Amino acid sequence: MAFSMNFQKEQLTGAPPVPVGVYTLQLKGFKQKPAKIKEGQTESESMNLNPDVVIIGNAEYEGRKVFPGLNTKAPWIIVDFVHACGLTMEEVQNENAGTEKADFTIPGVFVGSEDPSVKPEDWKYQGPLLNATMEVELAFTPATGGYKEKNEVRQYICKVPGCTEKHSTNLIRG
Ligand SMILES: [Zn+2]
Repeated sequence: MAFSMNFQKEQLTGAPPVPVGVYTLQLKGFKQKPAKIKEGQTESESMNLNPDVVIIGNAEYEGRKVFPGLNTKAPWIIVDFVHACGLTMEEVQNENAGTEKADFTIPGVFVGSEDPSVKPEDWKYQGPLLNATMEVELAFTPATGGYKEKNEVRQYICKVPGCTEKHSTNLIRG
């Protein structure tokens, strides 16, 4: 088999950001990965969920990948994300269920997460978020400090009927 070693610019640098605005995204899955271990730590302190999402219903940018930041250290953003999919966080059925101390989690399961011998990168999400669509407002973030220009999610638009949760309308810091 012959492999081409010639690449177009977009293949080398990734597609440029899309214009700011509201887009429909579809979730294809998660590419979860523990956050980088910081100096002085022995283990990662959080998980990057790395949702695998693409723009849909848009003639010009159909299928374009977007890279929302979603980390277990910022669970309020996970709530926004889940609500944008029209779902709510699920109560964990443990000893605290039904009390004020109840724990909540992303609806669905990460298959493999219950087995310590399975690396987080190999967990596989199964549940109602798969293929869910959501409306998000994308912002444009210029290149800074060695990072390329990119789109970031400014806000997830809640799709839960009668929702009383207070969602962020601007997730972008600074
Ligand atoms: Zn909501």
